[in-house]
Amino acid sequence: MLSDVVANKIAAGEVVDRPASVAKELLENALDAGAGHIEMELAAGGRKLVAVTDDGAGMTRDDAILSIERHATSKIRDVDDIESIATMGFRGEALAAIASVSRFRLTTRSADAVSGTAVRLSGGKLLDVEDAGCPVGTRVEVRNLFFNVPARRKFLRTQQTELSHCRQVFFTYAVACPSAGMRLVVDEREVYNLPGGVGMKERLRALYDSPFVEALRPVEYAEGPLRVSGFAGLPALHRGDRSGQYLFVNGRPAGAPLVSYAVREAYETLVPKGRHPVLFLFIEMPPDWVDVNVHPTKKEVRFRKGNETRDAVIGALRTALKQDGGAVSASREIPFTRPQMADRQVRIEGLPVVQPFQYPRLPLREDEGEKPSGAEAGHPPAEAAAKGDSPWAWCRVLGQVGGLYVVMETEDGLVLMDPHAAHERVLYEKFMEEVKANRVRSQGLLAAESVDLPPADALRVRKNMKLLCEMGFGLSEFGGDTFIVDALPTCLGNVSARSVLVDVADSLEKGGQRGGTERWAEDAVAMAACKAAVKAQDRLRLAEIEQLVVDLAKAEMPYTCPHGRPTLIFLGFGELRRKFGRS
Ligand code: ADP
Ligand code: MG
Repeated sequence: MLSDVVANKIAAGEVVDRPASVAKELLENALDAGAGHIEMELAAGGRKLVAVTDDGAGMTRDDAILSIERHATSKIRDVDDIESIATMGFRGEALAAIASVSRFRLTTRSADAVSGTAVRLSGGKLLDVEDAGCPVGTRVEVRNLFFNVPARRKFLRTQQTELSHCRQVFFTYAVACPSAGMRLVVDEREVYNLPGGVGMKERLRALYDSPFVEALRPVEYAEGPLRVSGFAGLPALHRGDRSGQYLFVNGRPAGAPLVSYAVREAYETLVPKGRHPVLFLFIEMPPDWVDVNVHPTKKEVRFRKGNETRDAVIGALRTALKQDGGAVSASREIPFTRPQMADRQVRIEGLPVVQPFQYPRLPLREDEGEKPSGAEAGHPPAEAAAKGDSPWAWCRVLGQVGGLYVVMETEDGLVLMDPHAAHERVLYEKFMEEVKANRVRSQGLLAAESVDLPPADALRVRKNMKLLCEMGFGLSEFGGDTFIVDALPTCLGNVSARSVLVDVADSLEKGGQRGGTERWAEDAVAMAACKAAVKAQDRLRLAEIEQLVVDLAKAEMPYTCPHGRPTLIFLGFGELRRKFGRS
C-alpha cells in the first residue's frame, strides 16, 4: 500500500502539470460553488502564487478538512451520477493533488457559519486548522508549486510562458461564464476586470477589440435535444491554428476531434487550406450523450451520438454564415429586365446600337506603342512572353462582374482577374524581394497603435520580436500583452497593425517549429500579403485596377497567388472561336 502522501503526489502528476492547471482547477471549483465574482492572482507566472477567491457557497469546517482528501467531492455520490453531471468537477482529486505539491492554504466560510476556517498544508501534510475571520466564500492560495518535486519543477518553462498559459485559462473561463464577474491580477497589477451578469456578446466585447467582435456572427441552432449556440467568426478572421476556437460542451471547456472535423467541413470552401476560423461554440446536449470522464483533466470529451453532434455543428455554422452571405449579395443586384421588345421583332428603330468598348488600352509592354496588336491583325497569340515580361502587350479593363471579378480584353482574348489574388501576388513578390535583399522598408505610422493581444498571440509576438523588427515592424513591448506598433513594412500599405501582427507572428511560429529559416519568411510574407491585399468586397476604382494589372504583368509568377489560387483566367480567341463553332 502506498501512503496517502505518495499516492496523492503520483495522482498530482495527472491533474497538475503546470501553474495553469492549478488555475484551471481553482476557477472550476469557484464556478461550481456558484460564485458571482471570482478573482485570480498570479505571481511569477504562477510559480510563486496562484490564488483564487470567490464569493460562492463556501464550506463548513468539516467539509473544508474533507475537501483536501483524495476522492472527496460534494458533486457526485454514485458512478451513475457522472451521467448527469452538471458541475465542472466531480473527481474530487484536484485539491488533494494540488495540496500535495505546493504550500497550500484554504480559507472558507459558508453562509450560515459564524466564523470561517483556515486549513494549511505543505507538500500534502496537514499543518494546522484554525478559525479564521473571512467573508462568505472561499479563497485558495497555492504557493511554490512543485517545491517538493524538483523533477517537475525542471519542466516548467519561463515565467512568461507559464504566465501566458495561466492567462489563457482565465480567458477561456471568462468566455465560458459571462455571468460571473472576473478579475485577474498579475504581479499586483490588474489585467482584467470583467463585470458579471452580462451576455456572451458583452463579455466578448470586454475581451476583444470591436472590429473583431463585429466580424462575429451569432450561432443559434437546435436539433432535437441538441443545441449549438455562440458566435462564429466570418471567414476573413481565419488564423493559422485553432487557438481562436473556443469550444464548450455542456458549459465545460473541451476539445473534441469530432467537432474540429465538423468545423473544418462547415468552413471548407470559405477559409484557405490549412487555416482555421475563429469560434466561440457552446454545445449543449443531454448529459448522458457525452462522456466527460475520458481524461483526468477532462480536457477532451467523447460523444455518444457522434453523427448527430457533427451534423448539428455543421448545420449551426452554415446557417450562421449564410445569413451574412445572403445579405451581401442581395443588396447589390440590379434587376435584369429586358427592354420592351415585341416578341419576334429583332430591331427597333431609334434604339442605340451596342458600341464597341470605349475604354482606352493600357500598354503592358514597353514595345507596345502604336503598333497594331496581334489579335486585331487576325493572328493567334503573340510570341510567348519572356520571363518577367508581360504576357500581353496591352489590355483594356472592361469592368467588374459579380462585384468582384475584373473583366479585361487583351490582344489574345478575354481575361478574368480576381483582384484579391492578384494583389496578393504583387505584394508578395514586392515584399519577398525586400526581405531577400535585406532591405525591408518600413513606414512610420502617423499615430502609434497600441495592440492588445490574447495571451497566446502575445507570447508568439514576444518570441519573434527580433525577426518582426527585421521584417520592418516598428514594435515595442508596453507591458502585459500590449505592444506598441509605430511602423509597418511599407509594402503592406494600409492595414490594421493588429491583424497583420497576429497573423505574421502565427506563421513565424510555424516556421520556427519546422526549423526552417527560409520558409518562415515565405509563409509570413504570403500571409502578410494576403492580409494586406484588397478584399473581395472592396470597391475598386478604374485607376486602381489598372495599376494592379500593370503590377501583375511585371510579376515573376503572375498566374497564381502565393497560396496557389489562380489570379487570372484566360479565354483565348481561339477557344472562343471553337466554342462558337466558327473554326
Ligand atoms: P471536485 O471539484 O472534483 O469535487 P476538488 O478536489 O476540486 O474536487 O474539490 C473537492 C471539494 O471541495 C469539492 O467537491 C467541493 O465540495 C469543495 N470545494 C472546492 N473548492 C471549493 C470552493 N471554491 N467553494 C466551495 N467548495 C469548494
Ligand atoms: Mg474541482
